[in-house]
Amino acid sequence: MTPFEQLGLQKSLLDAITDLGFEKPSEVQEKAIPILLEDHTDLVALAQTGTGKTAAFGFPLIQRIDPSSRTTQGLILSPTRELCLQITNEIQAYAKYEKGLNTVAIYGGASIQDQARQIQRGAQIVVATPGRMKDMIGRGMVDISKIDYCVLDEADEMLNMGFFEDIQDILSNTPKEKATWLFSATMPKEVSIIAKKFMNSPQEITVGTKNSGASTVQHEYYVAGGRDRYPVLKRLADTHPDIFSVIFCRTKRDTQKVAENLIEDGYNAGALHGDLSQNQRDLVMNAFRKKQIQMLVATDVAARGIDVDDITHVINYQLPDEIETYNHRSGRTGRAGKSGTSMVIVTRSEMRKIKAIENKIQKKFIAKDIPTGMEICEIQLYHLVNKIKETEVNADVESYLPAINEMLEGIDKETLIQKIVSVEFGRFFNYYNKARDLNSSDKRDRGERREEGGSKNYSGDGSVRYFINIGEKDGYDWMSLKDFLRDTVNLGKDDIFKVDVKDSFAFFNSESHTQEAILNTFKDLKVDGRFVNVEVSNNPIGGGGVHRGGSGKFKGGRGRSGGGGYKGKESRGSKGFGSSKGSRDRSETKGGRSRDGGKSYGSSPFSENKKSKRRNGFM
Ligand code: ADP
Ligand code: MG
Repeated sequence: MTPFEQLGLQKSLLDAITDLGFEKPSEVQEKAIPILLEDHTDLVALAQTGTGKTAAFGFPLIQRIDPSSRTTQGLILSPTRELCLQITNEIQAYAKYEKGLNTVAIYGGASIQDQARQIQRGAQIVVATPGRMKDMIGRGMVDISKIDYCVLDEADEMLNMGFFEDIQDILSNTPKEKATWLFSATMPKEVSIIAKKFMNSPQEITVGTKNSGASTVQHEYYVAGGRDRYPVLKRLADTHPDIFSVIFCRTKRDTQKVAENLIEDGYNAGALHGDLSQNQRDLVMNAFRKKQIQMLVATDVAARGIDVDDITHVINYQLPDEIETYNHRSGRTGRAGKSGTSMVIVTRSEMRKIKAIENKIQKKFIAKDIPTGMEICEIQLYHLVNKIKETEVNADVESYLPAINEMLEGIDKETLIQKIVSVEFGRFFNYYNKARDLNSSDKRDRGERREEGGSKNYSGDGSVRYFINIGEKDGYDWMSLKDFLRDTVNLGKDDIFKVDVKDSFAFFNSESHTQEAILNTFKDLKVDGRFVNVEVSNNPIGGGGVHRGGSGKFKGGRGRSGGGGYKGKESRGSKGFGSSKGSRDRSETKGGRSRDGGKSYGSSPFSENKKSKRRNGFM
């Protein structure tokens, strides 16, 4: 008997399991399946993400359902559309040899009429998000009054997302005698309330954290200055040339920005957040699944649905507000028994959050140094050499060999290797050569930084750099701040330059002869009842910086089907994403901007190197 047979599963399911390549049940499957097959019972199962919960309820559900009746017999509630679709796909795969069994997904953001029609055709199993389910019950489009089984999947997530009342409403439309199976990664109060209120002395199983998927996750943190998050992110990515990761930001705006910057810098990146249309999100997720996107930048809410195996790294670009959220984030890696790493970019002042998380997850973080430029070069170099070694020889090359041999005549093997590696590696080396140390030391924690490899044209030109206490928060981007300064101080068209707007403050340069006028104007100037304060910055650097105003539209939108849209090369050349303001911003901040309005970003050493690097297959 196979291990799955021992659990009491029927032949048709065993055949499907063989097709799926599952060799033995996971712990939660081993524990849940026999219980659910034998008894008509309620069940509470606690298991981390990636432990195989879908099959734990899916197999017994399929086996218990009568496919010859078209009545809806099983309802699975799940927090997001993504998960809903995922579960539906899994169930359909498990049920491939069950004749007449229909599983239908219903979720928001798609035609409710289409979904209603699918249900009308007969759906023994309905997988739904709570919101759409409630909607369809209200409109009489679905009948769940005769279900025998209700599964609450990712119950903690659903409650986190505020679905308590919807769930309550939905359950009140179901028969009392049904069995309720609740699956959850954690057991917060709200979940136990649901269990108490809606379940009859449920059996309980817990899958030990020891064997759970999430236990294979290593947690690391990197201490950096708050303004260095982006360059640190790039270094973390460059240290792992085969990275396949989800990067979590706190806001939609940061998510969009980080993704845009990565795309522009030539990474295969994409954004996932609530401001994108459902269609855009689907495209991004598909590209991610196909690994055309290596770095998926996401908000917590949008990432709830991400259920992709093989994610090597979760990067916390910023820590979440809630400790619990960290758990959900890191659970995106280390799935299905694979190992993974959860990295946190943290500032000194956030260090106590790390302690709090350690207490919560009962695991220690490893303090890591931010890799230096030279370390990255070394990694990339060996990666390149290894890639050359592993590359299969293209048979078509053969006919050119005589000519090539002739061209390379007289060069010994040693030199040839050096040359080949240098062709690829030179640009990379140039980018990181002399890059500064990003590890946060206390004294370097405040103030503006120059983006590494960025513009070198800081004010050795006799101009003065200023700090001003208004920024993006106050509604300024570099253009509007420049206008504001020119109008307020009454300066000429080109007198303000190297404007770099941060969240709550900004920097700009002006020629020294305007210093008196600027400082006098802002001596006690109030704007909107607030003092606007301008000081000469003791940091002489201008240009650089990665912050940009103007969020622009989702980038890389075109060509996504082929994945090409994620190449920095293309997004750089493409016109029309974002507003014109957005593209001017880009030239401002990508380094190399000159006073005349910044046409030079394309030739900045920064972008050029990055792009060449990708084009030459470093990643
Ligand atoms: P969870 O719901 O606990 O997060 P899933 O049910 O989504 O986990 O399963 C995670 C992955 O593991 C899926 O890709 C699934 O196909 C796979 N999987 C589930 N059970 C097994 C098994 N017994 N053997 C191998 N892979 C499995
Ligand atoms: Mg699941």
